[in-house]
Amino acid sequence: METILTPQEVHSRLTAFEKECRRRGLRVTNQRREIFKTVASSRSHPSAEEVFEQVRHKLSNVSLDTVYRTLTSLEKMELLIRVGMPAKERFDGDLRPHAHFICSHCGEVYDIFYNLDHMMLPLKEAFLCGDVRQINLQYKGICKRCRE
Ligand SMILES: [Zn+2]
Ligand SMILES: [Zn+2]
Repeated sequence: METILTPQEVHSRLTAFEKECRRRGLRVTNQRREIFKTVASSRSHPSAEEVFEQVRHKLSNVSLDTVYRTLTSLEKMELLIRVGMPAKERFDGDLRPHAHFICSHCGEVYDIFYNLDHMMLPLKEAFLCGDVRQINLQYKGICKRCRE
């Protein structure tokens, strides 16, 4: 799959991000915007380290710790999705419902888009639990590239 998004796709993700920040009363700082943009500009599900490598030249005084804390707070606000395995976590700026395939050999994260409607909770269970805001579905295995 092509990992680079078109400028229009990046633009629409950024617009949605800024709109959601405003709705939640969160200031769109240059730092938050750059960090989100780095995650949302590709389909590679970058790690905090990879995001840091890309933003360190654009943001002065940014540390890996700051990047990690920003990613975590954006994830808590449901503006990013956290995927992958503990200690190898990655971030995703694509908020459309989708599942992930994670290769336990190379750690690569692949998007899987298919109809997840049937994964919605039955009405009674949903009533007992609360509002479902996100479905986090991960498949683990060995990817095609590693299998060969
Ligand atoms: Zn692999
Ligand atoms: Zn994804």
